[in-house]
Amino acid sequence: MKTKLVLLWWLSATIAFSQINTRKDTVVAASVPYAVYGPQFDWNKGYYVAEVKKGSGIYWITEGSHQVMFLTTGKGVIVIDAPPIFGDKISKAIAEVTKEPVTHLIYTHHHADHIAGAYQFPKGIQVISSDGIKNRLKELQSAKRDAPFGTFVGGKPVELPTKTFNDSLMLTVGNKALKLYTINSHTHHDVVVYLPKEKIINAVDFIWPGWIPFDGLGETEDVYSYINSMNWLLKFDWDIMVSGHVGRLAKKEDVRTTIEYITDVKFAVMKAIQSTEYMAAVKKTGFANAFLTVETYFDLIASTASKEVEAKWLGKLGGVDVWTYSNCRRMMMWLRLN
Ligand SMILES: [Zn+2]
Repeated sequence: MKTKLVLLWWLSATIAFSQINTRKDTVVAASVPYAVYGPQFDWNKGYYVAEVKKGSGIYWITEGSHQVMFLTTGKGVIVIDAPPIFGDKISKAIAEVTKEPVTHLIYTHHHADHIAGAYQFPKGIQVISSDGIKNRLKELQSAKRDAPFGTFVGGKPVELPTKTFNDSLMLTVGNKALKLYTINSHTHHDVVVYLPKEKIINAVDFIWPGWIPFDGLGETEDVYSYINSMNWLLKFDWDIMVSGHVGRLAKKEDVRTTIEYITDVKFAVMKAIQSTEYMAAVKKTGFANAFLTVETYFDLIASTASKEVEAKWLGKLGGVDVWTYSNCRRMMMWLRLN
């Protein structure tokens, strides 16, 4: 009797355990390739800070998913963006490597996940961005809104830029000369910061080095401009890029790889659109629920394209299994409508 009970317990436990395991496997999905990994750091401390290039006085901070670049100039620190996910760790990281106070802050775009932590810097510092970003932030922080800007990630409303530019801006502070450009890529008014002498560039949310573009082609507002901006980035003379996300810095090779991936998505989707009959969806669903029929048609296209792209890229970039479908879907909508 006792043996039977133990056996039964063992059997049920094994089944339960194997179910948990199966579920876990589906969540974990494909492993990420080695190319995604950056420097190891102390997770208890919560961030990594180091010079982008030794002796440059240009630093980057990461906690594994976001990145911030800051520069010492001899006359104060210039910070680019303030993702609220870091909390006050940006200020801590700066204080860890320099005694210079923060005097300038640059916004690369208006997204709260990159700037809503700006409250930690002293009042009265110069805040620089493009005209377009200033206008966007004015709208977003209008008192008429029900959902205040940036609160979803623990951030707070941000100061509006105190200095803006329309096309490009040369900024010299102490020993650093920066060129700022505005371009339509991830948003309509992104700001890219380039340091020609140091050959370093800061372009946020263009690429995710080692990974495929984030959900829906990085949530870009304009797919064509986003694709074109990749080649625009390559024209500058730089060898290291701070990209705003993930745990490692980027090289030009990472931009080229992203271009190749997106090109594959584009052609796979084009092919799937041209070869998928609407009636193939109707055959599955009938006409009774029109939205279900259209959704089935979209899904047929995106799934066909996604399978083709995944077959080539799985194991080469991170997240291929997670967001290739979403990237194909975004491309499909763009190609159908534009
Ligand atoms: Zn963004």
